[in-house]
Amino acid sequence: MKTETIFSKIIRREIYSDIVYQDDLVTAFRDIKPKAPVHILIVPNILIASINHVKHEHKQILGHMITTAAKIAKHEGIANNGYRLIINCNQHAGQEIFHLHIHLVGGHNLGPILIE
Ligand code: 5GP
Repeated sequence: MKTETIFSKIIRREIYSDIVYQDDLVTAFRDIKPKAPVHILIVPNILIASINHVKHEHKQILGHMITTAAKIAKHEGIANNGYRLIINCNQHAGQEIFHLHIHLVGGHNLGPILIE
């Protein structure tokens, strides 16, 4: 699957989103329907549809997504109390947008259950 989603337009700043971080590899922006006080999506700038589409050549990007998430968590002031990183893949996980993304959620006690 190689069809662009709305996330590509956000990355190119063709449509507005509250971008909190961007560099050559990744973009991070606030989720439009936050499920927690802090809910930020970290996405690769290139289109990778889902975690099923990750290839060996993407490992630098994947690692950078994780380190960026940790950096943003610190910046948002939630690193010490804790937070959760989530990647949904396909139907059973409820993936809606087929452009790989990490959900960074935190800012209150998230409990034992995953998102929704
Ligand atoms: P998924 O279910 O694919 O893991 O999560 C997709 C996420 O993208 C959802 O939490 C949804 O609220 C968010 N989202 C969908 N469309 C937009 C949008 O146009 N802008 C932003 N900022 N978030 C979006």
